[in-house]
Amino acid sequence: MQKTALVCGAGGFIGGHLVKRLKAEGFWVRGVDIKPHEYCVSAADDFILGDLREQTLVREVIDQDFDEVYQLAADMGGAGYIFTGENDANVMHNSAAINLNILDACQKRGIKRVFYSSSACMYPEHNQQDPDNPNCAEDSAYPANPDSEYGWEKLFSERLYLAYNRNFGMECRIARYHNIFGPEGTWDGGKEKAPAAMCRKVAVARDGESIDMWGDGHQTRSFLYIDECLEGTLRLLRSDFEGPVNIGSEEMVSINDLARMVMDLSGKSLTINHIDGPQGVRGRKSDNHLIRDRLGWAPQQSLRSGMQITLDWISAEVERRSVCAA
Ligand code: NAD
Repeated sequence: MQKTALVCGAGGFIGGHLVKRLKAEGFWVRGVDIKPHEYCVSAADDFILGDLREQTLVREVIDQDFDEVYQLAADMGGAGYIFTGENDANVMHNSAAINLNILDACQKRGIKRVFYSSSACMYPEHNQQDPDNPNCAEDSAYPANPDSEYGWEKLFSERLYLAYNRNFGMECRIARYHNIFGPEGTWDGGKEKAPAAMCRKVAVARDGESIDMWGDGHQTRSFLYIDECLEGTLRLLRSDFEGPVNIGSEEMVSINDLARMVMDLSGKSLTINHIDGPQGVRGRKSDNHLIRDRLGWAPQQSLRSGMQITLDWISAEVERRSVCAA
């Protein structure tokens, strides 16, 4: 019989790619999101436009058994969205309400396997002060001290999923994603993240110009290409390991080096103009010991190869928009 999957947040970046991947595997897929996908027509067999904060909508969406449920819907964005403080109440309320509703509906339907996308933002700020030596091992999560309300909500929801496993015999699986990037993700408007923002700035700049960067650029991060993220996600959901486990890259770069990489890929000669802006922790990198140990897998693809694909896609989007505006 054909397998079925539900993707919550199917109109978003990772959800959109996940729907395509599940379709390629032969699944019947229902997607749900509060908005349609901005950059592609959803590949889902059934796409429900609706607000997952509404319990009645969630019960309508989860009206049958699904072999796999992926919960990716969240009120989120890059540093310009989660670190200003202006969106804290929405981020906490909206994402927590979504998780509470989905878990409740799945449990009442007898659905056991639910994937939950947590974030590296839940790791303690005090372990990420040194840009050369951040600690993001899974067992460093407590005592908790995330640097944003977004991180605190992720931590709460991780515990919620684990509590449903414990009390209701569910088999939820939890990943802590580290900076996922690739084409068909937000690249402007204030919710974009560093790789997409960098690609956009480089794409619109003319040879010899400068691009703005928040902070001194010495802060470090690791970035994972979307295809690798999906592979890790599917392997985790289908495994007997509940997590939480990091899904991220161990290839750490400074934001200055990320910018230089994108400039180099574009063939343009540009300079960096450092300005004040929200930056988050000084260093962050995935620690993949646990995922290697428990799933026998870790991502391999280089940052550069993924950035090339992302830059090409964003450059084409910039071009398309300027043609439309002309
Ligand atoms: P995204 O913003 O592109 O996708 C999230 C989707 O959730 C959006 O399409 C949004 O419309 C939808 N959504 C928000 N509120 C909703 C509501 N009330 N009802 C229905 N849909 C709603 O983000 P993404 O990058 O695809 O991230 C997916 C998940 O992975 C999120 O939970 C995010 O916190 C987590 N995550 C992502 C990253 C990353 O680097 N992209 C890193 C860590 C964790």
